[in-house]
Amino acid sequence: HPNSQLKDLDPAKLKVNLAQRLQPLPALSTLKFGETHTDHMLVVSFDPKTGWSDPEIKPYAKVELDPMSSALQYATNCFEGMKAYLSPDSTPLLFRPDMNMSRLASSVHRLSLPPFSTSALLTLIKRLVVVEKQWMPPKSGYSLYIRPTVIGTKSTLGVAASDSALLYVICSPSGPYFPLSRGLGRPDGYIKPINLLAVSSHVRAWPGGTGGHKLGLNYSPGFLPMSHATEKGWDQILWLRGDMVMEVGAMNFFVCLKRDDGDIDFLTPPLDGTILPGVTRASIMDIARAHTSSLSFSSSTSNTTLDGLTSRLHVSENPLTLTTLIQWSREGRLIEAFGVGTAAVLCPIGVIGFEGEESELPSTEAKDSAFTEAGASYPDGNIERPSSLVDSKE
Ligand code: PMP
Repeated sequence: HPNSQLKDLDPAKLKVNLAQRLQPLPALSTLKFGETHTDHMLVVSFDPKTGWSDPEIKPYAKVELDPMSSALQYATNCFEGMKAYLSPDSTPLLFRPDMNMSRLASSVHRLSLPPFSTSALLTLIKRLVVVEKQWMPPKSGYSLYIRPTVIGTKSTLGVAASDSALLYVICSPSGPYFPLSRGLGRPDGYIKPINLLAVSSHVRAWPGGTGGHKLGLNYSPGFLPMSHATEKGWDQILWLRGDMVMEVGAMNFFVCLKRDDGDIDFLTPPLDGTILPGVTRASIMDIARAHTSSLSFSSSTSNTTLDGLTSRLHVSENPLTLTTLIQWSREGRLIEAFGVGTAAVLCPIGVIGFEGEESELPSTEAKDSAFTEAGASYPDGNIERPSSLVDSKE
C-alpha cells in the first residue's frame, strides 16, 4: 500500500474466540454443495487510516453492512474457492493454496481494493482449518470447501474505489458437486456425464473484461441464462463467444483427442483474459505433462508405463470452436470433453445442445472414488475442541 504506516495483515495478532456451542455434524449423505457452514469464521477489516485490523477467528455470524456499502452498490466483491482434504493419517492438507492466494490478490487489485500479504492470509486460513478440523469429512471425494471473500465497505454513494474493506473466510463441508447426475441409478459409482446447453446470446467474458478474475460480478449475469437452461433440463451452460468455446458453467473446458500416431492431444482454451485461470486446469496440465515425461523416462528403462497408459499426452492451450468440437466427435477423433474446477473436480460432458440441435459426445467410463468407499461418516461421540492446536502457531 502506498502508505507504509498502515498495518498489514498479521497472523501474530490473531485472536481466537471459540464458539460456546458447536453445531451437530450433519450426515454426509445430506450435504449439498455450499449449504452447510462450519462453527467459525476468520474476519479482518481494513480501515484507510490504520490498515488491516487484528485478525479474529470467531463464531460464524452475520456481517453488518451500511446500506451504502460499496459491495452492495457497486459489486466490489471477490472471492476464492479452495479445498482442504484429510490425508489418510488425518492431517488436513490444502490443495495448492498458493495459487488461490495469488488469484485472490489479482482479483483484489482488479477491484482496486486494499492489498494484503497473501502469505499472512494463508497462515490464518491454516489456523482456521485446524480449528474446524472436526468438520473435515473422513471420506474420499469429500473435503472442506474454503471460501475467502473480500468486499468493499466504503459507505458513500460516490462512484469510486472503496478505501475500506472486509476480508472473511468461511468453510463448508462438501461432497460431490453433481449428486443428482452422478451415481443416480448407477450403484456401481460411475460418473454420469453432464449435459450442456451451449449459449452464445449471452457472453460470460470478453476481451478487456473481467473474466480472468474471480469477481462476484462475473457470476450474477449468468444466473438468468442458467435458469433458462435448467428449466429445459440441462445441467450447465457451455459458454461461447461467437463459435469459440470458453468455459463450462464455473469450470474450465478440456478436450482429449486421438492422434493418428496413437498419442493423445489434450486441449484447453488459452488464458487470454476471458478464461478464469483455474487451479484444477493448471494441475491437470501439470499432471499430463509429468505423465508424458515419466513415460519417456520409463520407456527407455523398462516396458512398464504409468497406469498402463502407453500413449503420450500432448498438452496445448489453443482456441477451439464448437463447430470443430462437433466435427471431431463425428469423425471419431474425440475421446472425451470435460469440465474441471475445485467444486466439481472433473465432469465428463455427455450431450451438447445448441440452437435446437443435440450432439452426443463420446465419454469414457470414469469411476468416482466418492462412491466406491464404504459409507464412512463423521466420527460419533463428543467433539474435542482443538484448543491445544489453536494455541500453537500454525
Ligand atoms: N471457471 C470459472 C468461471 C470458475 O468460477 C471456476 C471456479 N473457480 C473455474 C473455472 C475453475 O477454477 P478452479 O479450478 O480454480 O476452481
